[in-house]
Amino acid sequence: MSRGKATKPIELRRCVVCRQVRHKSELLRAVKTSDGKISIDGATKTFGRGAYVCKSQACAAALKKRHGFDKTFKTKLPAEFYDAICAAVDAAV
Ligand SMILES: [Zn+2]
Repeated sequence: MSRGKATKPIELRRCVVCRQVRHKSELLRAVKTSDGKISIDGATKTFGRGAYVCKSQACAAALKKRHGFDKTFKTKLPAEFYDAICAAVDAAV
C-alpha cells in the first residue's frame, strides 16, 4: 500500500464481508444514528457510524448468514434487518 501522497478525497470504504475496498457507490451503507437506531442508508448521507457491504448478492447473502453487521454495531440485529439488506442489494444490482 502506498501512503503519503496527497490525493483527492475519494470515498472508499471497505466491505465488512469480503474486505475489499470499493467506491462508496458500489457499496450499501448501514448506519447507526445518534438515537441508536440502525437503518439502511441509501443516500449515504445520514450522520452516524456506518458500515458497508458490497452491492453483490454473494456479499449480502454472506452478511446475512454471519450477521456481519452485529459486530460492527455491537448489537444483535434482527434477521429482518438482513433480509432488508438482501432486498436492497437485489434492487441495486
Ligand atoms: Zn463484499
